[in-house]
Amino acid sequence: NKQVILKDYVSGFPKESDMYVSSNGTMKLKVPEGSNGIVVKNLYLSCDPYMRSRMIKNKAITGNYYIDSFKPGSPILGLGVAKVLDSGNPNFKKGDLVWGRTGWEEYSLITDFQNMFKIQHTEVPMSYYTGILGMPGLTAYAGFYELCSPKKGENVFISTASGAVGQLVGQFAKLLGCYVVGSAGSKEKVDLLKNKFNFNEAFNYKEEPDLDAALKRYFPEGIDIYFENVGGKMLDAVLLNMRAHGRIAACGMISQHNIDKPEGVHNLMHLIYKRIRIEGFFVFDYDHLYPKFLELVLPQIAEGKIVYVEDTAEGLESGPAALIRLFSGLNIGKQDVFRYPC
Ligand code: NDP
Repeated sequence: NKQVILKDYVSGFPKESDMYVSSNGTMKLKVPEGSNGIVVKNLYLSCDPYMRSRMIKNKAITGNYYIDSFKPGSPILGLGVAKVLDSGNPNFKKGDLVWGRTGWEEYSLITDFQNMFKIQHTEVPMSYYTGILGMPGLTAYAGFYELCSPKKGENVFISTASGAVGQLVGQFAKLLGCYVVGSAGSKEKVDLLKNKFNFNEAFNYKEEPDLDAALKRYFPEGIDIYFENVGGKMLDAVLLNMRAHGRIAACGMISQHNIDKPEGVHNLMHLIYKRIRIEGFFVFDYDHLYPKFLELVLPQIAEGKIVYVEDTAEGLESGPAALIRLFSGLNIGKQDVFRYPC
């Protein structure tokens, strides 16, 4: 059973060499007698920014929703798409396709079924369940519709906009009739936002010496909704450009993951001046919305109203490099790792 193992806890920017691939792990492909677990073959593994937070010792990252650290010497854990090979659980049978929490290994024994979903719709590529139809998709849906109270014609800004979450938020906003601008870290991503995802405007934040001026250029009348994926200097500049009664969905702050001392935010007084509502959220508090989300998004995908871009690395061996790509911005669209054909 080939596995991707975390070597040791990580500080600063993660490196490929913080992980290694081992072929030593043994795995019985049968569920142990008396267990209600399932044995799965992992097909696609998801690379997600929050995984960096699990590379630190004793880090409970989400308050009452506890996700503990990876254990050095043990496989990386994450979300993936898998096929059931053997089951001791009446809810799953051999041959079922599932997505949810699994390990970065060829085969996994799963005994914790929190956030484990049976895949019912197989007319789409199975990789979609690591992204647009999986956790990032539900994040975009819950963050935008539940937290931002969006209305037609409003001005929406999304940072890290070409990624797994951002690309979908932007398309939801466009379909609702909003004016949508995204920021991303390369020309290729900016072109994708404008030409593939149909954003009204997009800009490369790395080429903008003054983010406040850039936002004023794209939002002369201010921003109603900010979907926050990046934090730091961008959040500070956005606060200066929000309109009265604006809403900010604090989804992620990827710019702060790999620095020892988080950057200060200086413009928080604007929350008061403009009566802005800012709310952090965690996607798995919205599991109950998953069926409603699928009901909305599956027809939109089928009709071509929503498109999806993913960046798939091949084989478990490429897992460490694929995960690091997220933090250097090399992924174009949702990053995942392909294991085997179904
Ligand atoms: P992405 O697919 O967007 O990949 C990460 C991207 O982040 C990179 O491609 C890069 O894009 C950008 N980035 C990386 N490092 C930095 C940096 N130092 N400064 C600025 N940008 C950087 O990831 P996801 O769509 O999966 O996640 C987007 C955000 O949503 C993350 O912050 C994540 O933590 C958050 N999230 C939150 C959830 C929740 O429940 N609250 C659930 C899922 C995700 P670029 O080239 O544009 O800089």
